[in-house]
Amino acid sequence: MADARRDYYDVLGLPRNADPTEIKRAYRALALRYHPDQNRDDKQAEEKFKEVSEAYTVLSDPEKRARYDRLGHMGLSRDAAGIDPLAVDLEAMKSLFTNLFGDLIGGKKGKGRDLRYTLDISMAEAAHGASKTIRFPVRADCPTCQGTGARGGEAGLKVCATCSGKGEVKTGKGIFSLSRTCTVCQGVGKVVVDACTDCRGVGLTDQQREYTVSIPPGTDDGSARRISGQGEPGRRGGSAGDLNVTVKIQPHPLLRRDGALLICDLPLSFTQAALGCQIEVPTLEGRVDMKIPPGTQSGATFRLRGKGYPTAVGQTTRGDLHIKVHVETPQGLNEAQRALLRHIEEKLATATYPRIEKYQEGLRQLFGPADTTATPITKK
Ligand SMILES: [Zn+2]
Ligand SMILES: [Zn+2]
Repeated sequence: MADARRDYYDVLGLPRNADPTEIKRAYRALALRYHPDQNRDDKQAEEKFKEVSEAYTVLSDPEKRARYDRLGHMGLSRDAAGIDPLAVDLEAMKSLFTNLFGDLIGGKKGKGRDLRYTLDISMAEAAHGASKTIRFPVRADCPTCQGTGARGGEAGLKVCATCSGKGEVKTGKGIFSLSRTCTVCQGVGKVVVDACTDCRGVGLTDQQREYTVSIPPGTDDGSARRISGQGEPGRRGGSAGDLNVTVKIQPHPLLRRDGALLICDLPLSFTQAALGCQIEVPTLEGRVDMKIPPGTQSGATFRLRGKGYPTAVGQTTRGDLHIKVHVETPQGLNEAQRALLRHIEEKLATATYPRIEKYQEGLRQLFGPADTTATPITKK
């Protein structure tokens, strides 16, 4: 079939490198203009509608489009592609259109959707309270056309011919008749003939919204807030949805929380614990210097009053921060280091290990004197 058919790109008024969005946009505008329901008894419009639908059917399918680009209309004969675009019937093309754009036509008043937002904050922000501005995308009425989708407002709209502007169509007869929302205008009663260029006739654009959430001091992880009317804006004067904000407290790298108590596990070397030291510890307000006294045992806890978490949401009274000591035993010692440690061990009198001495005493009471006179903590 050498071809009277027009080039599909020409039909849609597109360059050959048009992307899928452009293809869809062009099809939408043309199909709306020539839609049979909008152009009763207009054979020419019907043919145009079929032509643009056919072009869209091919160009929106990457495989068919590639074949068409290579071979032209010939590439899409029934044999090669398994379809004959010309055989696609009008009803199928109408439903293709409705399926694609049925929910986009014109601007109908409607409630905005509820939105969810997870707000990540630090433990310090949660404890002290904070004010956080969140930004989120919404689909909202196009400001250029006020959501009508039409250029120049009402002038770019015409009464929907399918429902005669009523927004609904009756099916069936007499007492069995049912009213359905008109699928062409989606109940608006009007359709776009001259599309707004900013929203391409959709009536909606992607916009950024922001809202400042105030976090009370002592906020718990996972706490949720429902902010009425700050979700997706309503369409064409409809009410806005709600904004649901869930607070997620990022785990603190050094502090863990148990109610109003904050706990910091502080590792110390044997020497630091034995000799005492000055060491930095974290608080929610920053680091502070802490004095570790000589002879500090593993498991010892130092209390920093009022440096913990608020006792309740909205409270500024705070619990304590516990610094819990863990003496860390050195690992991976080389021979020289091991020899040094043995030497030190020999020099340390039993009296410096009251717990070890008590343990040895217990053994003696149970079993009598030990067989050997080995140094107290050398294990065999
Ligand atoms: Zn617009
Ligand atoms: Zn309608």
